[in-house]
Amino acid sequence: MSEQIQQRYAGAVMNTFGPPALALVRGQGAHVWDADGKEYVDLLGGIAVNALGHAHPALVDAVTTQLQTLGHVSNFFATEPQVALAEELVGLLGWGDEARVFFSNSGAEANEAALKLTRRTGRTRVVAAEGSFHGRTMGALSLTSKAAYREPFAPLPGEVAFVPYDDVAALDSAVDDTVAAIVLEPIQGEAGVVVPSADYLAAAQRIAHDHGALLWLDEVQTGIARTGAWFAHQLLDGVQPDVITLAKGLGGGIPIGATVARGKAATLLQPGNHGTTFGGNPVASAAALAVLRTIEAEGLLTATLERGDQLAALLAKQTGVLEVTGSGLMRGAELDGPYAAQAVASGRDAGFILNATGPSRLRFVPPLVLTSDDLDALDEALPTILDTARAAAQETTP
Ligand SMILES: *Cc1c(COP(=O)(O)O)cnc(C)c1O
Repeated sequence: MSEQIQQRYAGAVMNTFGPPALALVRGQGAHVWDADGKEYVDLLGGIAVNALGHAHPALVDAVTTQLQTLGHVSNFFATEPQVALAEELVGLLGWGDEARVFFSNSGAEANEAALKLTRRTGRTRVVAAEGSFHGRTMGALSLTSKAAYREPFAPLPGEVAFVPYDDVAALDSAVDDTVAAIVLEPIQGEAGVVVPSADYLAAAQRIAHDHGALLWLDEVQTGIARTGAWFAHQLLDGVQPDVITLAKGLGGGIPIGATVARGKAATLLQPGNHGTTFGGNPVASAAALAVLRTIEAEGLLTATLERGDQLAALLAKQTGVLEVTGSGLMRGAELDGPYAAQAVASGRDAGFILNATGPSRLRFVPPLVLTSDDLDALDEALPTILDTARAAAQETTP
């Protein structure tokens, strides 16, 4: 079955992702099943998306009820779920009534909106970080540092300067009064869960504000309880960005993005400046509300911290793991050799969905409902997964 679907995929779907490893048909909690009936513990969670896991009844109910009531209307009209979601996000950020939200459908779109917003400052320059990932649309790509993603699409819009991540001096010398914004991930996700020094974001905020620039934090991956706080910047005292962008975990699998701005940044986009047909539609908004309320109701912030510590500890004790990074259920593991891709394959054989962000780097961004038993199972399986991967890598590199 899996093989059949994969063959049809190759004959019908544009080959932008490379051949899919599996055809998945069903999910429950932190588990998924492929078309051949094989079960996997899902440690990728749709890339930090399935915060509530798969088929959570609260999400299913919210989406079903909203779709039966009012599924979609144009943004010429207000809907209660969208307004309630904006209010809740602003409340969770603690930003009060001088903050505003723009809804879209993805992380890249949330960043496009933020990038357009920065243009309304009257300045055009943006400073971003090496190792950054902000999405694949042209504007978001202009902020993304990876040459392999950028070069086939040059010229990209914007005047974007890249500085080494976690380097305050570099940021200091790159930012002057012509810079509209500094854009940073609080923890770099696609780079492999790279955590900056504790004072880096506060320094970025000071530097931005010294020059009248905005601090824009891309929390598309780190936001919505992923790190054990509602937003990763809340792990740090005194960091208050002007703009944050959200997506991934926000809808729990229903596509939605959000750009939240406060203070003068909240009013930079004016009527006619930006728009979207689908963004923040009632179904997506109801889904996101269900995600936020379930995180609260099920104590998933605490659970994320606890499971996160358990995951970090079991990774750290593995032979071959040199370093474990991250916070909550966003973790990176540096291996002692370039066998991460092989570990993903041997993990799959053993019934675990793993993810490699680099030749020797694994990333773990599982559902926040992952159980202690799921982690015990990983603990038991991981030594063999890594041994097998190491051996496979040695076979292919003589
Ligand atoms: C995934 C990601 C994006 C892009 O989100 P899409 O929904 O894939 O467009 C942007 N920024 C960060 C930090 C991400 O991790």
